[in-house]
Amino acid sequence: MTICSSDEIIDEFELLTRDAGRVQQDTLRKILELNADAEYLNRFNLERRTDSKSFKSCIPLCVHSDIESYIQRIVDGDNSLVLTGKPITSLSVSSGTTQGKPKFLPFNDELLESTIQIFRTSYAFRNRKYPIGNGKALQFVYGSKQVFTQGGILATTATTNLYRSWRFKEAMKDIMSQCCSPDEVIFGPDFHQSLYCHLLCGLIYSDEVQFVFSPFAHSLVHAFHTLEEVWEDLCADIRDGVLSKQVTTPSIRQAVSKILRPNPELASSIYSKCHNLSNWYGVIPALWPNAKYIYGIMTGSMEPYLKKLRHYAGHLPLMSADYGASEGWVGSNVNPTLPPEEVTYAVLPNIAYFEFIPLEKPKGEEMENSSSIHYIESEPVGLTEVQVGKIYEVVITNFAGLYRYRLGDIVKIAGFHNSTPELQFICRRSLVLSINIDKNTEKDLQLAVEEAEKLLAEEKLEVVDFTSLVDRSSDPGHYVIFWELSSGNASEEVLSSCANSMDLAFVDAGYVGSRKIKTIGALELRVLRKGTFGQVMNHYLSLGGAVSQFKTPRFVSQSNSKVLQILNRNVTQSYFSSAYGI
Ligand code: AMP
Repeated sequence: MTICSSDEIIDEFELLTRDAGRVQQDTLRKILELNADAEYLNRFNLERRTDSKSFKSCIPLCVHSDIESYIQRIVDGDNSLVLTGKPITSLSVSSGTTQGKPKFLPFNDELLESTIQIFRTSYAFRNRKYPIGNGKALQFVYGSKQVFTQGGILATTATTNLYRSWRFKEAMKDIMSQCCSPDEVIFGPDFHQSLYCHLLCGLIYSDEVQFVFSPFAHSLVHAFHTLEEVWEDLCADIRDGVLSKQVTTPSIRQAVSKILRPNPELASSIYSKCHNLSNWYGVIPALWPNAKYIYGIMTGSMEPYLKKLRHYAGHLPLMSADYGASEGWVGSNVNPTLPPEEVTYAVLPNIAYFEFIPLEKPKGEEMENSSSIHYIESEPVGLTEVQVGKIYEVVITNFAGLYRYRLGDIVKIAGFHNSTPELQFICRRSLVLSINIDKNTEKDLQLAVEEAEKLLAEEKLEVVDFTSLVDRSSDPGHYVIFWELSSGNASEEVLSSCANSMDLAFVDAGYVGSRKIKTIGALELRVLRKGTFGQVMNHYLSLGGAVSQFKTPRFVSQSNSKVLQILNRNVTQSYFSSAYGI
């Protein structure tokens, strides 16, 4: 693929989306031709046919566990044509925050090219509205360890697969702006040291920074929260031109020391700006005066961080980055002026073959303000057959050996761009709090937490992060919501009201009914020590996850004993709701 100008990319996008139905058929044909010899396709007797009708009648829909044994063979070094027409030589490791453990997924050059296409498309639209000059970008990006599996296959996170690729670097050179930090910082072995140096390098080049980026909003908030704690150390480093002793990794020290010079003037300007800020409001434009916007995925499980991110961003616009997964990309944000809460993703019809499983609520289950999923599924429909306003689960067939793979994400069709749908991300499907007939999604949990959080406003407190658990150790079982607060000074009275408020905020009919007849016990709010979610993140990193892809798990199953241990040993207070009587 040759590198094209933004106008050419927009023209190509318009062309592809005008005829999305035909492009999808061509894409499926290409995928099936390339992989005609794959054992998986032959097992289902596809017999080299490449039309969508034969494909759908031969190949079943699948979830990860259905193909895990095939992937395991690849992990173990089987280089026969298991899933694809050419042996798979690299694997992506997903964040693992959905199911408690990371998943292996095949990665290949075609997935790399589709990532480039997605990124370049959203950039072209973004740059039309907010052009950026030739400067730098403050990027909080972190590579994770690359490991070779026992079978000799390279495995790392999808983001690391990208940042390590020279092809990706070349293709992104003109659009991502140069990262302020050297590669040694991105690929450093210790995330805390890398974060410190990202902030330091960002401050050294503060006048040149054009935008601030991290793949997910969580790591942006985490970065500026860290800045609140280390700003004086950063100022000292810049004043003296000597890197703090807390950075111990020799390669990082060497690389950062090359760009760090004593600069007392810059240090005192940063010092006075930080000192004069009111509760860190607007710190990003204050310290990076030429930044035009903040960029990263801000929808779905990232929404709870928006309030804090807006606080740090002041007047700067927040722009949500694209929608995809380690399984493959889905859509680009081509309406960059929409606030994150309204962002939609236009599906690129040539990067994979997409199907959508229609989901409908049974009659009588509609409840206002609830996104609870008591869905009835029907036959999957094609990309151009989806209907505006309806809700679907995304199914992907990609170039790297996934066929009719249920992504587990629920999306709503917000509209169409030419003939391709624009998706609004609703939530991940698997995450539900459920004891008997109740079912609450990640979104329901988020709404409940937001409702209760309003009660903290008067005490000037915030929920830093949260997760949940179904506790069946007593009978009846009950919901437990864990909160980490910005400070530990909330009054008992307010926290009890918060527990009541969350209990009442789950308006799913199954929950309300069960609470009334006490087949579900009183909701419990457990308050955690500061820093608990940092420990949870460190645990996922120790499993091989990358900070860049980290998403706080919103639901912890009983089998996730390590995370439960971390949460439970950090509980400082617990409050039971009395909303439905004691
Ligand atoms: P992973 O493969 O571990 O990076 O996780 C991929 C998952 O992240 C997807 O299946 C989605 O649930 C979520 N995700 C990715 N992009 C977005 C987005 N733009 N908005 C909301 N959720 C997203």
